[in-house]
This record gives sequence, structure tokens and C-alpha cells, in this order.
Amino acid sequence: MDEQRKKARHAWKGSGDVKTDKLWYEIFEKYGSTEFVGYKSLRTQGLIIQIIKNNKSINKIKQSDKAIIVTNQTSFYGESGGQIGDTGVIKFNNNKFKVLDTKKILKMHLHYGEVIKGKFKKNETVNLIVDSKKRQRVKIYHSATHLLHASLRKILGTNVTQKGSLVSFDKLRFDFSCSKPISDIDIKKIENVANKIIKQNEKVNISIMPYKKAVEKGAIALFGEKYEDEVRVVSMGKEENESIFSMELCGGTHINKTSEINDIKIIKQSSVASGIRRVEALSGNDLSNYIKAEKEAIFVREKEKKNKKEREKLDEKKKIDSLEDPSKNILVEGNENAIKYYFRTIIDFPPNDLPKLLDKLKIEIKSGIIILFGVHEKNISIVVGVTEDLLSKINAVDIVKKVSEILGGKGGGGRPDFARAGGGNDKSNIPKACDAVKELIKSC
Ligand SMILES: [Zn+2]
Repeated sequence: MDEQRKKARHAWKGSGDVKTDKLWYEIFEKYGSTEFVGYKSLRTQGLIIQIIKNNKSINKIKQSDKAIIVTNQTSFYGESGGQIGDTGVIKFNNNKFKVLDTKKILKMHLHYGEVIKGKFKKNETVNLIVDSKKRQRVKIYHSATHLLHASLRKILGTNVTQKGSLVSFDKLRFDFSCSKPISDIDIKKIENVANKIIKQNEKVNISIMPYKKAVEKGAIALFGEKYEDEVRVVSMGKEENESIFSMELCGGTHINKTSEINDIKIIKQSSVASGIRRVEALSGNDLSNYIKAEKEAIFVREKEKKNKKEREKLDEKKKIDSLEDPSKNILVEGNENAIKYYFRTIIDFPPNDLPKLLDKLKIEIKSGIIILFGVHEKNISIVVGVTEDLLSKINAVDIVKKVSEILGGKGGGGRPDFARAGGGNDKSNIPKACDAVKELIKSC
């Protein structure tokens, strides 16, 4: 036992929290590892050997207390090897502790949760019951992860090595060495290989053997991982030449037959670091829900696109209507000092279309000064154009500044032949502004 404890202490890197790490070491020194009996049985009895609340070891907890319960044995899988921790309930008589997560530290299983009813104290015998539905889903995703790993190696080559994984109850994530994105064709091939093995519906074989023998047989071990002398080997599927498709050293929980997976689809790939790619995959109901949500999103996007087009069409029509409707156009034109002027107020006209209209009118007028007042949702926009032949006499920027000032607008600027400004929101001042420009023309 001492040798085993020493090994475990050596292998554990610590949680990063010095205060709690000290506590874990103390508990581990005293009780040693707790036993996991949850590969086959999701219910077991255990003796409470420790209760931890607020980083302190205490003797009892009551309703609403958030704490960690440690038992001598458990059916709860503690988060490790990428697989998330089990959830469920710890019970005795009418007392209930909801387990929200299980972690594994120094070979001890820690049940994180809250007392829902009653109280718990040290040395009590309790029933530990794992949420079986969730565990089944995690099992599916763990076995699917192994199949995906083997499929990636088969299609992309054996230089694909695992760099990390997350096995949850609603998805799987797998990180591996690869320097470039996987092509769509290869993604399809990888999925096909994995799904073919699933359909074989072979039994998932789990055996314990010496580490050396497992590696000799071709089982994949994680680089940098410390293994015991005796290891657990998980094998799945058959190749055409009858050799085993996937064989990995793994302490996780797995399904009995590959068909429990239903199907695997890679829904996303990304780069997590230089030379490391990540694939995310779904199976079963999660996959059909995902496909349904994707279809709905495409439908919404298409509908929005259609609506936008219709809105644009309507705006265009409104614009033409505004230009053609005499009640929406007030024109002041004439000559002053042998210079032609053309001032036009247009109601319900988008400000962004004013410059285009100005250019058109400039060509029509040939020589002169044009001012357009576009009124849109009460706001007035001003554009001023001066034809080239008049640039030595008058400047569009001077005109726009004058007009904007009278209308209570701000700023304004541009070039000698073209200038624009905002003109406040009181169109009753437009005639006054027009008169001021006429005076300006007279004086040039
Ligand atoms: Zn595994």
C-alpha cells in the first residue's frame, strides 16, 4: 500500500490550490485510495470516510450545505482521461445528497454536491446511486471517441496522436497532432469508417493485462501518461483482415456493443494550437437535434435575406414615388447675377441617394448651382453642387455652411464642387436658407 501511495503522490500534479492540496495529501496518507466499483454496477454501498466543507474536514453536514463526500468505495466515475465525472445521488433513509460532479484526486473519488434533505455524518453507511441515463450517454461518447481516434489514424495516418479529449454526455471533442485542416472528403471518409464499425455491432471487449503485453499487442497508450503495471485495454470492431480496429489503454466507461452509438458525425473542426487540430462530434439524438437546429437557422437566414430584398425594393419604389409626386417636391429655380440656381426640397427621400441625384441634375443643368434638401424621417440633409465653370466665383463648401447654419444643422464640408451637411429638423426654415444663398450669388 505504501508503495502505491508513493506512486500516486508522485503522479499527481496537484490542483494548483496549495491549501486544498495539503488537505488532499493528508486524507490520502490516512485512508489511501478509494475504490471505484462502478464499471458494472451503478449502485453501491459505501462508508463515509471524509466530509469536506469550505476546504476543511468536518464531521457532519446538514440541509443546504455544499460539500464534498468521500466514501471508501463508490460507483461514481471521477473525472479523468477526458471523461467527465458522474452525477447522481448519495442516500440513506430519508437523507439525500445530490452529487453534481465527481472528481478524482490522488486515486480518491470526491463527490461534489449539496445536501437536499436531512443530514450526513462521518462513518455512516450510505447508498451511492449514479444517474444512469447520463452515464449511458457518456459511455456512448467515450466509445465513439475511441472509434473516431482509430478512424482518424486510418484515414490521415498513424502520425495522428491524441493530444487531449473531452467526453461529455452530449458531445465529444478530440484534439490530435495535425498541421493542416482536414478536407471535406477526408471528414466524410473518417465518418464512414467509424459508422461502418458501429454497424458491425461487435461486442466492446475490455481486459486487464500487463502494460508490456498490451503495448506489444498494439494498444495505443497516451504519450506522457503514467500507467500501472496492469492496464485496462478497451478493444472495438474488426478490420477486413480480422485484426482489431481500435485498441486503447483506457480507464473510462464504455458501452457493451458498438451499435449503441447509433452514428457519429463530425460537426466542427478547428485549430487549438500550432500543429494541433480539434474535431467535435455528435451522435444519436444530439446529432438529430443539431441537424434540425441547423436547418431552422438556414431557413431563418433565407427568410431574412428575402425580407431585406423586399424592403430594398419597396424603398426603391418609395424613392421614385417621392421624386415624381409634386406634393413631395418644392422647387425654387431662377437666375441671379447670370448664374442659374436650382433649389429642390424632396420629402421622404433617403439622404444617401442625394449625391447621385445631384450628379444627374448637374449634367442636366450644364451650368449653375444646385441645392438638394432631402427630408427623411423629419431630418434634413443638404447637398450642394457647383458646376465647374463657376468654381472661380463660388464654392460649394461656403454655401453648405451658410445653409446648415440657418437650418440649425451641424458641421458640413466637402470639395469646391460638392459639399454636404446635416440641416436639423425644421423644414420651415428652408425658404429662408434659399434666400440667403440667392444673396450670396448676387454678391459674387
Ligand atoms: Zn478512453
